[in-house]
Amino acid sequence: MLPSVRPLRRSPRVATRILMAAGVAGVIAVLLMVSLVATQDRQADRTERLADGTNAVSGLMELRVARFQENALLKLGQLGVEFGALDQADATAAVSQAREETDRALAELGTSAPFSSAELAADRMGPASSGANEAIKGQPAELDRKVESSLSESISDIESLAVQIGDRETAGDLRELVALVDVSTSSQALLLEATDYWFAEPDELVATQSGLAKQMARFEDHAAALSALAPSSIRDDALDTLAVGSALDVAIAEQLDGTASATRGGPVSGELLTIFSDGLTRATQFSPEVASAGQRLAAQSLRQADAARDARNQAAIGAIGILAMAMAVSLAFARSISAPLERLSETARRVSDGDLHVEPLRPSGPPEVIEAAMALNDTVANLRLIERKAEALAASDLSAEVLDVPLPGGIGKAMSQSVTVLADSVAASDALRTRLAFDATHDELTGVINRAAALAQLGESLASRPKEQVAVTFIDLDDFKRINDSHGHATGDDILREVGKRLDRAVGDQCQVARIGGDEFLLVFSKHSLDDAVVITRKALADLAVSALPGPQHLTVTACAGLAGSQAGDDALTLLRRADVAAYHAKKSGPGSLASYDDELHRYFSKQADIEDALRHAITHNTELELFYQPLMSGDGALPVGVEALIRWNRPGSGQVRPDEFVPVAERSPLIADLDRWVLDAALTQLAMWSSDPLLAHMSMSVNLSGRHLVHPSIVSDVSCALDRSGVDPRRLILEVTETALVTDLKLMAARLRQLQDLGVHTAMDDFGTGFTGFAHLRTMPINEIKIDRSLTNSVIGNPKERQLLDLVCVFARFINARIVAEGIETQAEAEMMRELGCDVLQGYYYARPMPAEAATAWLRARSRPPPSD
Ligand code: C2E
Ligand code: CA
Ligand code: CA
Repeated sequence: MLPSVRPLRRSPRVATRILMAAGVAGVIAVLLMVSLVATQDRQADRTERLADGTNAVSGLMELRVARFQENALLKLGQLGVEFGALDQADATAAVSQAREETDRALAELGTSAPFSSAELAADRMGPASSGANEAIKGQPAELDRKVESSLSESISDIESLAVQIGDRETAGDLRELVALVDVSTSSQALLLEATDYWFAEPDELVATQSGLAKQMARFEDHAAALSALAPSSIRDDALDTLAVGSALDVAIAEQLDGTASATRGGPVSGELLTIFSDGLTRATQFSPEVASAGQRLAAQSLRQADAARDARNQAAIGAIGILAMAMAVSLAFARSISAPLERLSETARRVSDGDLHVEPLRPSGPPEVIEAAMALNDTVANLRLIERKAEALAASDLSAEVLDVPLPGGIGKAMSQSVTVLADSVAASDALRTRLAFDATHDELTGVINRAAALAQLGESLASRPKEQVAVTFIDLDDFKRINDSHGHATGDDILREVGKRLDRAVGDQCQVARIGGDEFLLVFSKHSLDDAVVITRKALADLAVSALPGPQHLTVTACAGLAGSQAGDDALTLLRRADVAAYHAKKSGPGSLASYDDELHRYFSKQADIEDALRHAITHNTELELFYQPLMSGDGALPVGVEALIRWNRPGSGQVRPDEFVPVAERSPLIADLDRWVLDAALTQLAMWSSDPLLAHMSMSVNLSGRHLVHPSIVSDVSCALDRSGVDPRRLILEVTETALVTDLKLMAARLRQLQDLGVHTAMDDFGTGFTGFAHLRTMPINEIKIDRSLTNSVIGNPKERQLLDLVCVFARFINARIVAEGIETQAEAEMMRELGCDVLQGYYYARPMPAEAATAWLRARSRPPPSD
């Protein structure tokens, strides 16, 4: 697994993000659209209000015109009747017809009417019901002022709306209408002023005259404004009305010049009446035109309102369309990014799950995604390469071509480094394996094959040639122990190396040379007969002795050899032991001898085997073996200090067998350890029994240990277990080892003896003087006691040289702080001599022979003194 990566924060997918962005943009667009639509909507509203306003204006104008006609007809009727020019009934009929017009116009205005029909009825009752003159003299009626103000209000509303909308046409039309209405109003006012003037009392003349003049000036102003307008049908019609007004204006002016006729009761010019009547007619005609102009305007406004509404709807539809399109486009866009991204993340997920067999990603989508996809493809390719490299490494296939393919980055470097390291370590382990294989089959010192390999080869030869005789030679160097001890182990090793070399050279490829023990070699023949083997062995022995060894010592080495040829059914070990027996016998004939395993040897060998079998039985059944005890006396020979346990075998049918006959046989087999263990147990049991006897409680027990057993790994535990079982004080046990047992491995011996000393027991060097162990080597041995061999004890009398040697031994023993025991004392003279020499303990037939336990106990008790009581 790769180093742990912080989990990605959960966030919306790319497509969602794009959609969100598109959504926001869409919303903004929609808002813009909505505001546009709202603007359009407002425009439509205004246009609609404009249409409504123009409608109202046109209605008001109609109402005003109707009111003007109504009033004008009323005044005209009054005038006409006054001057007798009109019939009262006709005038009344014309007025009521005009009133109907007014009612209709008022009803059409509905809620936007400037006054109610009740107000209208009240107004009519006033002037109409009173006397005609009174009525005509009245000021412009309150209702007409209301119409005026509501009209001008509506017009100014419309004007400002038109400006807001930017409707220049309607504004222009309105200005025209205003001018028209102004002219109409002022001409009406002029008519009414003129009527007032006409019916004025003398005291009122000046005032009405000035009012008329004012009104005339206003009319002229309004007329000028109308004339200044651009030509149009409405204006042209209005100008006709204006002409009537102007004629009235002129006529009144003329009347005023002829001052007298301008007062009530004065002559009324017929011309004036005509003008008056014409004006009325014109006004009547003009009225529907104003109305239709107003309606046109209203219709136009309505059309505009519709157009505005359409524009608004289109804008709304457009907005929705644009939004939908924007969504669709962003969806497609999002898909074009999210699809390759999804493929990318799916592939990355599979790769991170360890699946390297993914399809390479196609380059699609935006460049960044393509780049990421290509990088992932490269990564997968590299991972596959790593996988293949790792497979090659796992298979230790260092020659695999894939290992040479370069890999980028640190991992590539690490990989190639590990290939180098692995190659080195494979080479090293190959070398090690070869060396271990060599070591397992070869002798480290000499380089020839070892015991195991030799036995294996022998076994192979025996198996592959069951009908033929397989030969083997056992070679044992003469006096090697002595050379080793006197010249040191380094020289000993040199000699063994040289022997290996010489043997190898002598035999060539006729047989295989092996070293199977300290100074023991084998010649393993695989294709030669026993006779050929004898010839080859002789040559080898001769070559070995032919010249001195190189080095300052100038030593010559000889060896004895034993030959054996296989018999049907023999195994490698049997053959080896026969050759060993033959060599053992050759030794008896002196250095450099050669012996073959023949019938005589075979008998000997059989006897040995027989002894071995019987002894094995004796040890396991524990009935035939017995320990004898030979006392050890104090230096003055007066008191027994201990005993040496000596084994006896009451072999059925053979009587008592001496240890010299069976101990060496046991020593050549694994039986020796069992024998020693039996002796240890028996001796310590006896010692334990004596421990409870106050007379014998101080006795020591010397037990002989075989050198073969001493190097055995179980020796220390064997001794400590026996001690535990008996419960005796370890200090009272003395373990004797023969000097000859210290054959080659002095170091191992020393270690073992020290381990035994660590248990608390004492150690003794037995048969001292028979071996050739130099003092220098003995000095380092953990030894508590030296037992001078019987041969030395016996030869000291009358032999000053031997005596000198014994002196030396004693000095040495004291030097290493060891107790001196003299063995084999048979005479008083020997006893005295040994005492003189300073031996600490004396042993021999002179004092006592080895005795069975019971006799030994009695003997010891009879000579022991009780310990001093305190
Ligand atoms: P050793 O350890 O040197 O034992 C002393 C031998 O000398 C004994 O012979 C003893 O009977 C004999 N001897 C003692 N005093 C005299 C004497 O004054 N004159 C003569 N001529 N001989 C005397 P033994 O009992 O026959 O033992 C022979 C050897 O067998 C022993 O020599 C020892 O090496 C071995 N041996 C005896 N018992 C055991 C045993 O229990 N275990 C082992 N591993 N070896 C034993
Ligand atoms: Ca002994
Ligand atoms: Ca001895």
